[in-house]
Amino acid sequence: MLHLTSPRLPRVMAFMLALAAAPVFLLAPSTPVRSEAASIAAAIDVAVESGRTRFTIALSRPVAPRVAYMERPDRVIIELPEVTFRLPAEIGRRREGLVSSFRYGLFGPARSRIVIDLAQPASVSRLDTEKDPRSGTAKLVVELTRTEREPFRRAVAESAPILRPPVVETVLAEPEDRRPVIMLDPGHGGVDPGATASAGMFEKDIVFSFAQKLQKKLEATGRYRVLMTRNRDVFIPLGDRVRLARSARADLFVSIHADSISGGAEVRGLTVYTGSERASDADSALLADRENQADTAAGVESTDNLGEEVAGILQDLTSRETRVFSHGFAKRLVHELDTVARLNKNPHREAGFRVLRAYDVPSVLVELGYLSSRKDFDLLISDEWRDRATDAMTSAVDLFFAPRFAQGGTAAVSP
Ligand SMILES: [Zn+2]
Repeated sequence: MLHLTSPRLPRVMAFMLALAAAPVFLLAPSTPVRSEAASIAAAIDVAVESGRTRFTIALSRPVAPRVAYMERPDRVIIELPEVTFRLPAEIGRRREGLVSSFRYGLFGPARSRIVIDLAQPASVSRLDTEKDPRSGTAKLVVELTRTEREPFRRAVAESAPILRPPVVETVLAEPEDRRPVIMLDPGHGGVDPGATASAGMFEKDIVFSFAQKLQKKLEATGRYRVLMTRNRDVFIPLGDRVRLARSARADLFVSIHADSISGGAEVRGLTVYTGSERASDADSALLADRENQADTAAGVESTDNLGEEVAGILQDLTSRETRVFSHGFAKRLVHELDTVARLNKNPHREAGFRVLRAYDVPSVLVELGYLSSRKDFDLLISDEWRDRATDAMTSAVDLFFAPRFAQGGTAAVSP
């Protein structure tokens, strides 16, 4: 039944408006400024006609597309220059003909992407831009035709060079600034929306605005240098999030997510995770699997190779020490959040999250709650709850670093 007096709808609207009005912060001065002239995608239509699936994007002005294919799962990737997507959140769930679902968003500086999940192997049989000379708008038409496995596989191999990964700017340590560095990691972003709430909001937006609030609170103490793995709605591969934390010499890494489970509307609560090859339970293992799919969702080959990692005894000792600190921080977080948030049973769990693999940076991943739970969702978008939760997290950070401050100000020693 619809309650017309419910405060829920205005609150969702207010939250969405606040998101739209959020200023665009730049990660580093070298990050290209968002082009004002980016084409706007205002509608996407999927239609089936005599065995072909036509995917049509309405654009405010024409853009030059490039097409690539990926396997396991089968996908068509449409690479575009930066495009601003103004589409209803539910649109990507549209299942029609050869299209089983799709995602869209910023993929890197000045790059956007549409990732189409295919119901079966298909090739782009037509790629056309229909311009309207009077309005200057355009329709980008991508026509998909069924193909066999072998030709699809060849197309995957041939188009691979188009799929270069995004360039992620690293933030370097500032030797002058001796304050502890905290790297906040709002989950997902850009072409990877994360979980979807029933109200048609994306996890990537909810966790981003939460992380921004936390950043402001931590910065206001004056005690920390607080960085974010992303400062706008852009995709960052999981391995790069770890690399960002390591290159900035972060003393603490906090990844922020909000999960969703199908068929479990009454499941709710906040959980703090630390990294481990062995998950503490089956649900945690499944969750880590879901979160680890982020690169696949965006059309990036997942790689476990973190590049600059040093193998050997030293790394092993560091990881052991890091694990102790990660656990210590997780415990403090759970303790501080206990009075603010409804906690999951067993609120501190372990699982093999790929973002928790920096061997020398204490790292935790916080699942703020379940977007699939209406009660959790209402809290997540409530200013009052987010205020209290970020206060509690700031207290946990203060307690974590207290031993370091006690040992002589901001000297670079382990907490
Ligand atoms: Zn997530």
